[in-house]
Amino acid sequence: EAPGSVPATARTEPVRKGRRADAYAQRFGGQLVLVTGAASGIGRATAFAFAEAGARVVAVDRDGEGAARTAELAGLIGAAEAWGEQTDVSDEAAMEKLAAKVAAEYGIVDVLVNNAGIGLSGSFFATTPEDWKKVLDVNLWGVIHGCRLFGAQMAGRGQGGHIVNTASAAAYQPSKALPAYATSKAAVLMLSECLRAELAGQGIGVTAVCPGFVNTDITATARFAGVDAAEEKRRQKRASRLYGLRNYPPEKVADAILHAVLTDRAVVPVTPEARGAHLMSRFTPKA
Ligand code: NAD
Repeated sequence: EAPGSVPATARTEPVRKGRRADAYAQRFGGQLVLVTGAASGIGRATAFAFAEAGARVVAVDRDGEGAARTAELAGLIGAAEAWGEQTDVSDEAAMEKLAAKVAAEYGIVDVLVNNAGIGLSGSFFATTPEDWKKVLDVNLWGVIHGCRLFGAQMAGRGQGGHIVNTASAAAYQPSKALPAYATSKAAVLMLSECLRAELAGQGIGVTAVCPGFVNTDITATARFAGVDAAEEKRRQKRASRLYGLRNYPPEKVADAILHAVLTDRAVVPVTPEARGAHLMSRFTPKA
């Protein structure tokens, strides 16, 4: 590996070139972009995509080492500046500390990507109150904290900005296998649309991104309610294989996120199955 080059493990897709890359560089060059869940999967790919566009990137994750590693690679890829921050998005006090630090040391965030999330499978009655709390704390409250704290800073500055929240195709697809996860993501979708309406007059766009199956670590770490540890491992493996077979790379979701900000879209279904579910949705969210 040549010094300064990006390790092959950091990407599975070639760097985007051509007109769209130029548009990204023009729009995001020098902008302060904060991405949560940036140590892995979609968040990491999104941090890298903004880095390629020459943004200043804050990579946030509860995995501090992973966030630092993403920041280091973002610097090699082309970020104007990059920092890693260890923060649990579900921890209100920790998020307040992060928001104060970012504003004081790096500036007001231009683009916020609330992406950190955890998976949870299991029927409604297999899902304990503790399981519900865990998944809502991270997937919903993490987004609420991010929007409240960084959104208030954006609005206070009065120069616009953009917020992206990672929802899921599960948000508009009722499923007996994922009641807690789907509920958390449906809430993120609605929250995004409500906030979009509220911030429209202030030049702040809000986008909910809804991926279907994306090939990331979420399957390997997802919890399965109501089964023992051995069965949980088996199901995680099975899910990883399924997502692997579908093989939709997180880099494509990252590209959809940058494009959604560029074009100020409200709801963006990403994978083919997510687009299908979006079209069939009883809720028919506006695109
Ligand atoms: P991933 O597991 O690869 O990455 C998630 C990252 O979030 C990890 O680095 C993890 O450490 C971090 N994280 C988890 N809880 C956190 C917390 N409390 N505070 C800070 N960081 C935390 O998974 P991914 O697939 O990249 O998931 C990213 C987002 O995309 C999630 O919101 C997920 O629900 C959503 N999503 C994923 C898929 C998919 O198929 N992979 C589909 C739809 C939506």
